[in-house]
Amino acid sequence: MDNYTWDKDLLESYLADDKVEPDFKDAIALASGQYSEKQTTQRKIDTIRANGNFLALNPYIVPCFERIITEPYNYMRVPRDQLNVTIDEALKVTKAFYNTTDVEVRNAFYRFFNERHAKLMARNPRRNDKTVYKGLTICSEAKKDCLVTFEATMDFEMLSVLIHEYGHAVSFLLRNYHNMYECNSAFCEIESVFMELMAYHWLQRNKHYARDARTGMIMIFNNILDNIKDTIEASELNEMIKDMYFSKRRITMREIIMQAKNEFTGMNQKYIMRLLSKPVERVIRYSYSSLLAIELYEIYLQDPNSAIDLYKRIMHGQKETAIATNKAIKALGINAGEHLTDFTRELKR
Ligand SMILES: [Zn+2]
Repeated sequence: MDNYTWDKDLLESYLADDKVEPDFKDAIALASGQYSEKQTTQRKIDTIRANGNFLALNPYIVPCFERIITEPYNYMRVPRDQLNVTIDEALKVTKAFYNTTDVEVRNAFYRFFNERHAKLMARNPRRNDKTVYKGLTICSEAKKDCLVTFEATMDFEMLSVLIHEYGHAVSFLLRNYHNMYECNSAFCEIESVFMELMAYHWLQRNKHYARDARTGMIMIFNNILDNIKDTIEASELNEMIKDMYFSKRRITMREIIMQAKNEFTGMNQKYIMRLLSKPVERVIRYSYSSLLAIELYEIYLQDPNSAIDLYKRIMHGQKETAIATNKAIKALGINAGEHLTDFTRELKR
């Protein structure tokens, strides 16, 4: 039946275990509704402050970035009524897709998929609360395990969320249970977005699903593209603010806008404010990861095996060199944005 909820005994054993990471417990509590997203966001801000983040140290910037972090986050969405599916149907498609990937990915997928009745939780969509994620995979290195939760929107988006979240679960296993989110890298979504792109490709070629899902697929592709320009500029703006902070220590919004106008031709105040009002950290993470996943995907279209091989090398590399992997990805010959035109061309066909 379409009834998925985390196993109560398992949750209790994890919550009671001292070896289990506090973040993992927090995420369980949040996802199972033990406290609100707002409280968690406040904790996140506190953590950023405690870590001495440059933004948190600056009294003028803090309010601005608190707004960014707490701002409603809607990224890569398709209309909810694109395709009606039940959870079991969506899982069936998810499984069929992962069956088409290589043996290591497929085995990792089944490791979590087979336990779905204990470790997958469907949540009722909370339509008025836009800060709530569509899907979440929470990983415990201590337990070598992860739990997945998703919004039961019963549409194409739910399918893509499931494919996405299982992408995180699979990669967590391929990395030998190393939690990539710990190092907060800007590309930690590469593993899930690459799976999504491969899945769309597979869906488009699969006659049975193509007819129903076509609109949804194209919408998603377009949304990725829409965010790319903002990403690159938001990350550059972010760098600029960082530089300003380290040279002056105290900066005002006005100074940021003046400096941005100087540094970026054609960037007007309205656009700068728009970039700053976006949840920059998440936009950068998702969009930068998307750019890298698109590079992998372009390779995949030419040569699926070498793309999957590269993906695995990225995953395996995370274990030892979590922070330095941005360089490592470049060393593999993957450069964000390099094949964007090819990708765009394909979408327009
Ligand atoms: Zn993700």
